[in-house]
Amino acid sequence: LVIPDWPGFTNVIGEIFEEIKPNLSGNVATYIPQLARANPNAWAVSVCTVDGQRKSWGDAFKPFCLQSVSKPFTYALVHDEIGADELHSHIGQEPSGRLFNDISLDHNKKPHNPLINAGAIVAASLMKRHASLSDRFDFAIRQFRRFCGTGYVGFNNAVFLSERETADRNYALSYYMREHKCFPESTNLQDTLDLYFQLCSIETNCDTLSVMAATLANGGVNPLNGERIINNRACRDTLSLMYSCGMYDWSGQFAFRIGLPAKSGVAGDLIIVIPNVAGIAIYSPRLDTLGNTVRGVKFAEALIQRFNFHNYDSL
Ligand code: GLU
Repeated sequence: LVIPDWPGFTNVIGEIFEEIKPNLSGNVATYIPQLARANPNAWAVSVCTVDGQRKSWGDAFKPFCLQSVSKPFTYALVHDEIGADELHSHIGQEPSGRLFNDISLDHNKKPHNPLINAGAIVAASLMKRHASLSDRFDFAIRQFRRFCGTGYVGFNNAVFLSERETADRNYALSYYMREHKCFPESTNLQDTLDLYFQLCSIETNCDTLSVMAATLANGGVNPLNGERIINNRACRDTLSLMYSCGMYDWSGQFAFRIGLPAKSGVAGDLIIVIPNVAGIAIYSPRLDTLGNTVRGVKFAEALIQRFNFHNYDSL
């Protein structure tokens, strides 16, 4: 077993969970009504190891939308489909140092990385790009389901419609990128944006999301059924980018303090990957000013205080 003293380990995680529970700082995202209505005090943590040991705390079966946590999975799937070279001829690998929805490109006139909106929209344009929009969505949700094997992966149509309705920034960003020829030839911009909003609107819960994270911790193989979902290299590249770009404008700080690949979303969701050990999912909708879940970041800090999971702890 990768974590031999499972009761001891989960007791400590449970302690951290209780310790952080009273922290009610931060505010839920309000740019769409569906997020504004989230219960601000919802609090869930789930762990799944690469050998399939699992435990959840709190509101672990409460559904939420992936939002930006969909981005690493979208990237991984496109990477697996077309390979790193073709993918990265369209998207860079550099932290942007700008807001996640900033209208800017790197010095090659490419999106800085696939985990900010610009890069994620281009990644969506590359996913099964010769298929119909319906088949592309089918492919995406089917693959997202394979990342978890069993559990809940659904679609929140109200969130999708709201995202599309309030997407001026993403439209502006996309037209700007089209001007700079960021998309593959004959890309339909509306289809691309719809697919992007749909990926953000895929719904899951903390318990299920931890298995998706564990598949990344396990090199792309689902730890519950042994199925390979993406190739090793796609998984490696996804984790590298999560390490440097996964936590909005706190990514450098997170890499420094926590030393683990992670990705957060505006729903208050967060995945943390401990390579070869476990995936952790967190849900707590109150966000800090940078858009990261407040209790999620606190949890990550406490985790690193108690265990030597930081990438450079074991030197
Ligand atoms: N749907 C959001 C947007 O495109 C994603 C926000 C996020 O989770 O970062 O603005």
